Amino acid sequence: MTKVGTKNNKRRKVITPVLLALLIMMYMATPSYAYTFDPNNPKYNDPLTVSVYISSSVPISDDVVSVYDNWDYMSEIQTYRSYDLDYAEAYFTYSSVDSGPYASCGSSGLDWKQITIRPKWKTLSTTLRQETIAHEMGHAWGLGHVVDNAIMREYGFMNNAYPWFDDENGIRELY
Ligand SMILES: [Zn+2]
Repeated sequence: MTKVGTKNNKRRKVITPVLLALLIMMYMATPSYAYTFDPNNPKYNDPLTVSVYISSSVPISDDVVSVYDNWDYMSEIQTYRSYDLDYAEAYFTYSSVDSGPYASCGSSGLDWKQITIRPKWKTLSTTLRQETIAHEMGHAWGLGHVVDNAIMREYGFMNNAYPWFDDENGIRELY
């Protein structure tokens, strides 16, 4: 009787790590719906005609020009480059004050979002500069931060300047 009991105990000890590993794999394979909305950046009234103005003070502006519209492949939203500040609904500008994050997005009204780029943004690689711009544009659309696996992740980088699955779901929920 004692022998049988010992055998069962041994088997249980082997099965438990296997089950744990399976559960972890299932968890990692499950798409997350983690998108949040940014309380400081309400969604646009008309998401199909959002004018983007890029201040001449923005350094390495090629990286802004090449990715601010990385969200536009989604049918729900569309940006247009504007050269008239009066029509700006997403206003990219530069601050020489070297404190705070690489960039940030704030709003003073539904259709006026200001994206401020800071000096340390210039020290990033091209891909990370572009990811930062795409992230800030995500705030302009109204998306908030998530933990990971999205361009809207709060900390660190995805090393990619295009929206992820979770970012797309957030846009579809908003618009
Ligand atoms: Zn952010």
